[in-house]
Amino acid sequence: APTLVWFRSDLRIHDNTALAAAAQRGPVVAVFLRSTAQWRAHGHGANKLDFWHRGVAALAEALDGLNIPLLHREADTFDAVPETLLAVAREVGAAALHFNREYPLNEARRDVRVVEAFRAAGLAATGHHDAVAFAPGELLTGKGDYYGVFTPFARAWHRQVTAERLALRETPVPQTRLAIAAEPLPALPELADTPVDGRRWPAGEGPAADRLERFLRFRGRHYADQRDFPAIRGTSELSPYLALGMISHRQCLQAVLAENDGALADGDAGLTAWVGELIWREFYQHVAVGFPRVCRHRAFQAHTEALPWRDDEPGFRAWCEGRTGYPIVDAAMRQLVATGWMHNRLRMVTAMFLAKHLLIDWRRGEAFFLRHLVDGEFAANNGGWQWAASTGTDAAPYFRIFNPITQSQRFDPEGRFLAEWLPELAPLPAKARHAPGDDLLARLDYPAPIIEHKAARARALAAFKGLSTER
Ligand code: FAD
Repeated sequence: APTLVWFRSDLRIHDNTALAAAAQRGPVVAVFLRSTAQWRAHGHGANKLDFWHRGVAALAEALDGLNIPLLHREADTFDAVPETLLAVAREVGAAALHFNREYPLNEARRDVRVVEAFRAAGLAATGHHDAVAFAPGELLTGKGDYYGVFTPFARAWHRQVTAERLALRETPVPQTRLAIAAEPLPALPELADTPVDGRRWPAGEGPAADRLERFLRFRGRHYADQRDFPAIRGTSELSPYLALGMISHRQCLQAVLAENDGALADGDAGLTAWVGELIWREFYQHVAVGFPRVCRHRAFQAHTEALPWRDDEPGFRAWCEGRTGYPIVDAAMRQLVATGWMHNRLRMVTAMFLAKHLLIDWRRGEAFFLRHLVDGEFAANNGGWQWAASTGTDAAPYFRIFNPITQSQRFDPEGRFLAEWLPELAPLPAKARHAPGDDLLARLDYPAPIIEHKAARARALAAFKGLSTER
């Protein structure tokens, strides 16, 4: 009897724990379920759904090279998943199901129900840990709690990581063709927005591996010095591929090991800094499991639930549309909407601007990001937003409020990023682009700041000071 492998956000045939485990048992049949209504309810937008769809097409092709047929089924919401999968298992005569676990609350619950349904039907179902080096719960504080702060988590990660944990899983060899045929990819569901040009984000393992190679060859060693400058292509731009598993963290870390004399924590400063980012990714996956309230739209720091968020529709629209009058915020928001991606430094700047300067509920920004990001991923997005809003783990202390103008001067000193995304400011001398004064604004088609920095800062400080930490 064949073994069924259920693909989700692990769209690759190399280094795939569930696929490798299933292939060891004999012939494999693959299945992908589309849960369009559920994904929409989770807030994923057109860019991510389009990239996902193209990733499934690339996966089908890769599986075909192994003679593994990929079947497609609809399970519009997660409730429909157990029955849909059981029906597939019966149809192909599978005795067992393998999949790689997903950690956010709804996904984890869905997976528990699948395992229960299979067991009740007398079939085996196994969820593997694959997306992270340590399964949530494996790295705990001395008191046995989940880490709520990054640095000790990262230290524990480095201390306990072993070669075995990062060993690449075996790629299956082509199997004998089965009597079960692969099914054609269903059409992409209707999308609420037009996705960005797919050529910007070619899907699949090949493009992901190319990006990793080019990053490590040309930019990895400069990462620590260049990663904060949005005008420089200093980061890997692998986030969409990691989010959907077109590349694994093990493949990334193995490539670093090969490049850095077998070390992850010492050696080249750029490469080790990059490893740190992959650990941030893992940290937030653990947070989603250890503190499930964050999956329920709650603040990690419970007392910050009482913050008096402002109801400011014009302010929110100005932020979304890149019309706040703060060039760095506006350029970044336009980059997000035009490309489906935003530089990390600017994710911090724009998120903090919404939550602190405008004092608008971070959850609105979180949802807007998810709607546009091609790498939209619950744990990292929620973690990043709560960090910026000072409601989360590692919370930036509430009095740390980025000044968007000095951030701009520091991280885009030549105003190149500003000129790229705000062509209306390009004719200005570089230094004037960060904060065009009234005389220039009178001649430009660019808005004056919607709020004054000092006043906004004072308002945010007052809001945070008014909180009782004893709730
Ligand atoms: P690199 O700098 O090359 O980093 C390598 C990889 O490490 C990334 O691809 C990503 O998988 C991981 N990583 C890097 N930084 C972080 C981080 N701070 N937290 C978690 N993982 C990280 N990342 C997402 O993948 N999806 C999101 O939806 C997302 N939303 C964010 C929202 C906010 C408000 C903030 C501040 C950050 C968010 N991030 C998110 C994290 C980070 O901004 C992106 O991962 C990064 O910009 C992606 O670019 P890169 O692949 O070139 O990263």
